[in-house]
Amino acid sequence: MKKLVILGGGYGGMKIMQQLSAKDLPEDYEMILVDKLPYHCIKTEYYALAAGTESDHDIRVPFPKHVRRVFGNVDNIDVHNKEITLVGDRGEVETLQYDKMVIGLGAEDKYHGVPGAEEHTHSIQSMESTRKTYEAISNLPPRATVSVVGAGLSGVELAAELRESRQDLTIHLFDRGETILPMFPLRLSTYVSSWFEKHEVDIISNSNITRVSEDALFNHEERIASDAVIWTAGVQPVKVVRDIENIEKDRKGHIILTKHHHIPDHPDTFVVGDCASLPYAPSGQLAEKQGEQIVMILKKQWAGEELPETMPEMKLKGTLGSLGKKQGFGVMGDKASVKGRVARILKSGVLWMYKYHSGV
Ligand SMILES: Cc1cc2nc3c(=O)[nH]c(=O)nc-3n(C[C@H](O)[C@H](O)[C@H](O)COP(=O)(O)OP(=O)(O)OC[C@H]3O[C@@H](n4cnc5c(N)ncnc54)[C@H](O)[C@@H]3O)c2cc1C
Repeated sequence: MKKLVILGGGYGGMKIMQQLSAKDLPEDYEMILVDKLPYHCIKTEYYALAAGTESDHDIRVPFPKHVRRVFGNVDNIDVHNKEITLVGDRGEVETLQYDKMVIGLGAEDKYHGVPGAEEHTHSIQSMESTRKTYEAISNLPPRATVSVVGAGLSGVELAAELRESRQDLTIHLFDRGETILPMFPLRLSTYVSSWFEKHEVDIISNSNITRVSEDALFNHEERIASDAVIWTAGVQPVKVVRDIENIEKDRKGHIILTKHHHIPDHPDTFVVGDCASLPYAPSGQLAEKQGEQIVMILKKQWAGEELPETMPEMKLKGTLGSLGKKQGFGVMGDKASVKGRVARILKSGVLWMYKYHSGV
């Protein structure tokens, strides 16, 4: 049998598996998912897992049953010889040849060369690291200090959730910019800042974290004692993807693709989601939209049809963020902003729909 290999069952990989049923595959093809985990994880909820307000079980979704699953850590990807190398739980090494493949292994933290950041900060970029972050936060003594570095969507959601989860903590939220949430309209940034002020989360703007040590971080040269530092200050494709040889990548290590989402000169190797170089900020929503287009291209390739000269625009529906369990903020469609309880209800609704459509 020929193999369509999906590397990573994240938002992009899941969408492809959901939209390609067994009958959509040519008779001589099987679809194989490779992931290190035995279930899809709802990464957009990692802030709540870390803060201890959502259970591990609640953010797992079973992988589709019509796909053969291979569990292991992808260790090497050779797109020139169409081969991947996996390391299993017990250290056993396996190689897997593919006929077609979609790389969707997601992102990990980018530390921008800040000394001590990788060693001394906690992460919410993978399920495993988020579980460790949850444990570290849960074990903090009363009145401990937590510093969250980066006030984009995930940092803001984490700081707010943590405030609701642990009222005794001192929480600092550091950001490089003048205002938090730079990708949102100023009106929403102001609203979120006033929520933090009211809930006694200390926003430190125009910051520059120059070093992190075991018990402190340094903003410019000022030492700020911290019992835990959580890093939400930037992401990049996972290392195994950054390490793929002899293909073109952008400045951040995302793989450059053709308009049909495959690697140039490699029409059988596609890339989806946070690993792909796209003209939009990475998001789960974007990974899903791109996944839909990859399914369209795969079907055309199998049918021997010509690929479209122009690809449809990937229309995104906006972004919603939470401020604890009761308040939220977001942008819907092109520009309409929402805030307060309505935004939070909408966000919960989106999560409910996502789980429902994934069969939970
Ligand atoms: C706290 C937080 C909040 C967010 N909120 C939003 C939001 O509101 N809206 C939104 O659209 N986006 C949001 N995002 C971004 C979104 O989660 C990502 O853009 C999205 O998950 C990317 O999807 P993906 O398919 O590229 O990869 P992922 O969903 O990250 O999936 C990658 C998969 O690859 C597997 N994997 C990784 N490395 C290996 C390996 N070496 N071997 C085997 N398997 C491996 C993982 O187990 C995982 O299943 C948020 C992110 C965070 C952290």
